[in-house]
Amino acid sequence: MLVDVTGTPDFTRKPKIELHVHLDCSLMKNALHRLGEPINEADFRRIYTAPERCDSLLDYLNAIGPSCAVLQTAPALRIATEELIRALAADGVIYAEIRFAPHTHRNGGLGLDAVMAAVTEGLMAGRAATGIGAGLLLCALRDYPPDRNLPVIELAHRWRDRGVVGVDLAGDEAGHPAATNRAVFDRAHELGLPVTAHAGEAAGPDSLREVIELLAPARIGHGVRAIESEDMLAEIKARNLHLEICPSSNIQVGVFGAYGDHPIDRLSRRGLSLSINTDARTVAPLSLSLEYRRLAKCFGWQTGEFLAHNLEAVRHAFLPAAGKEALSARLVDGWGGKDQVVARTSAQRL
Ligand SMILES: [Zn+2]
Repeated sequence: MLVDVTGTPDFTRKPKIELHVHLDCSLMKNALHRLGEPINEADFRRIYTAPERCDSLLDYLNAIGPSCAVLQTAPALRIATEELIRALAADGVIYAEIRFAPHTHRNGGLGLDAVMAAVTEGLMAGRAATGIGAGLLLCALRDYPPDRNLPVIELAHRWRDRGVVGVDLAGDEAGHPAATNRAVFDRAHELGLPVTAHAGEAAGPDSLREVIELLAPARIGHGVRAIESEDMLAEIKARNLHLEICPSSNIQVGVFGAYGDHPIDRLSRRGLSLSINTDARTVAPLSLSLEYRRLAKCFGWQTGEFLAHNLEAVRHAFLPAAGKEALSARLVDGWGGKDQVVARTSAQRL
């Protein structure tokens, strides 16, 4: 067990924001039932969940195979997206940005626009069924050449009014520098698409610097290895970059040894803008409520920390201002008022 959360509060009913969750790592058991492939819990865990500790990020990425194999038809993509949104709502999430790499869902012969049609149909169905807010982030992949990633950016642009809120760079960080795909993200900026990028997870501050300087993202997926460099911490703060942090996922792929070694609390105390995310709800398996219990247990986080970081998530969500105001008001109300927010300042440096 990663952390014994006995005695911690249940956060299920507290309103939460999730900015970093992958569709192909979050295939729900209900989706398989609806697709006519009922499966018991033990088999579901055995087939679709990665080991609690993987040898590397690459090892973990390989564990996504069975989920990805299912997500190759229009009904599977539609139902998986809808069921993920239902799971997010049941977990108390009021707004989520769900990401996926469209090219990885074409083995059944679907074109890129057919993939988008299926996922957005599921998005709309999920939003209608639950009333929560949800948008899509399309991932370019590090190990793809620019001529394969550029169509993903154009796709995001075409589907922007139909659920897409931004683009991401994902994939094997240690083996593939971001520089290869610089022109791809130049095009995203040209089109005015909000950009986030995975960095500072499987590689350190040099990889973060490369991504920040060449891709100019507004947010970083993970970014946790910024803790290795004072200069990088200062740079992230100076550029007002937001870190989408996924503590359990980092432990699972071996970025840090034990949960208590994770730098999220130190990054928070240093005043960095960050949010709490699952990354993967099935491959882990994990909910945001469980992640909050682990943070409460290991770092003593309470309402103040959780509200503050959810408000930061809204501030950096790829949403228009009006939508942000409404979400912030719901968070403040649901967590018991703004005076609960803990001011994390540089005066609190550890
Ligand atoms: Zn991720």
